[in-house]
Amino acid sequence: MLVDPSGIPDGATVRADVCVVGAGAAGISLARRLRTSGLDVLLLEAGGFEPDAAGQALYDGEMVEPFKRSADDYPRTSRLRYFGGTTNHWAGWCRPLDAHDFSDRPWMGGGWPVSRAELEGPYRVAEKLVGIEPVRDARAWEGSARPPLPLPAGSRLETAFFHFSEPRRFGQAYRGDLVGAERVRLVLDAAVTAFHASPDRTHVERLTVASPGRTWTVEARAFVLATGGLENARMLLVADLGNDHDLVGRYFMDHPGVKGLRAAMSAPSLGLYQERARGTVVACPAMGVVALTPRVQREERLPNGCFLLRSDWEPDALGAGVVAAAGGLARKAVVAVQSSFIAEPIPYAESRVTLLDARDALGLPKIRLHWRLHPDTRASLARAAEIFATELAKAGLGRAHVGAMHDEALPKGLDAGNHHIGTTRMAADPTKGVVDATCRVHGIDNLYVAGSSVFPTAGFANPTLTIVALAVRLADHLQEALS
Ligand SMILES: Cc1cc2nc3c(=O)[nH]c(=O)nc-3n(C[C@H](O)[C@H](O)[C@H](O)COP(=O)(O)OP(=O)(O)OC[C@H]3O[C@@H](n4cnc5c(N)ncnc54)[C@H](O)[C@@H]3O)c2cc1C
Repeated sequence: MLVDPSGIPDGATVRADVCVVGAGAAGISLARRLRTSGLDVLLLEAGGFEPDAAGQALYDGEMVEPFKRSADDYPRTSRLRYFGGTTNHWAGWCRPLDAHDFSDRPWMGGGWPVSRAELEGPYRVAEKLVGIEPVRDARAWEGSARPPLPLPAGSRLETAFFHFSEPRRFGQAYRGDLVGAERVRLVLDAAVTAFHASPDRTHVERLTVASPGRTWTVEARAFVLATGGLENARMLLVADLGNDHDLVGRYFMDHPGVKGLRAAMSAPSLGLYQERARGTVVACPAMGVVALTPRVQREERLPNGCFLLRSDWEPDALGAGVVAAAGGLARKAVVAVQSSFIAEPIPYAESRVTLLDARDALGLPKIRLHWRLHPDTRASLARAAEIFATELAKAGLGRAHVGAMHDEALPKGLDAGNHHIGTTRMAADPTKGVVDATCRVHGIDNLYVAGSSVFPTAGFANPTLTIVALAVRLADHLQEALS
């Protein structure tokens, strides 16, 4: 049901079994999953049903060394502060993390305390919530009008897929389910401003909520922070919770994208790899990309990554160099491909969110975001580019010009996915992570975190499908733990 905050008296205390803070992809998925659990759920959303400039301004922060000139307002523009959260303008690209993304990869600082197998069930639920029906195997396309590239056995490249949600706006799609649920109370214009812990700091007793003209308190058996990857860190830093090992806010990651790669390819059809780029997403629920195999990642200690191919160029746009290098490829058969590379970021403790002295209109310190790429990033990008070019040539599929991924060109071509990952990372060992495998903050018995801030590694997949899967899994855990 929808609760009007103007009906909550100033200074009142509201009680619930589970209090979920933030109604974006994570918070909505969690509250919706719990709506039939028998638990009383309170879902607090800082914004209203519509966007609002004053509310959005609460996301202002400082970006240190923006990765491109237009990115200095990234803290404000890469997320949305109203019901539905950032799904109000997400693009709908979906892909689960790969099994090896979860595994122990020492060159990526370790692995997850959760395996991909444990997430299979939650991923199936998440696919339905985002509205996709994945094709899971490249072989499904063999013999079709849109075949996968004929990469030979033993190639260090393979076809992988993204799937496209329409894109589903969680606020619109699930508002009715939440408002109609008897055991869920949704309160809009309810911004959490403080967490209050027990004297020994092992338990959250209550939190403070600011609504227009009033301040009130929530007491609950369990609290879930689901305010997005930047804000989850901000809230824990403000509360000074979960930070015994100086990990909150560290390891911030987004997906660096490198544009401007060019290739001349002889493939008869690249339709499987480019339909999204041509805007025919309705007819195209899946799009192929060319990914580094798990094996080459392991052998060469490389992060995950994939190449996107777009063949809507004229061959002449490639420049004489690339076409000439295509050598024996018949001129008429050459397809000009503009490629970009989505890199898995390497976790880096120096990439971080901290607090500024400056405060927002609610009195909370603003954030300072210093997104830094791990020093090994450039070498790994250059190596991925070499592998791409070499394997295309070896397979007789074409020639690639990959200079954009080499040192001198890198900063110019760098882009970001608006994905906020890693700032409350998950680890079994409390000295290595902020939350445990259930997403509970280490050392605090009733505080949980939902969202991509818990990912210890990022894969190359966009994060939302995994955010939703983890929220579903957390809902099931809470139902079991609290019932
Ligand atoms: C332009 C763009 C395109 C994107 N495209 C894709 C894509 O194609 N695929 C993909 O996987 N991801 C994409 N993303 C990222 C995706 O939107 C996020 O991963 C996802 O929305 C994060 O979900 P969340 O619930 O963690 O956070 P959010 O969706 O940001 O929700 C957080 C919620 O918490 C609320 N909140 C914040 N602070 C408080 C507070 N103090 N008290 C109460 N409530 C609070 C906010 O108002 C908001 O509703 C894109 C992002 C952008 C910006």
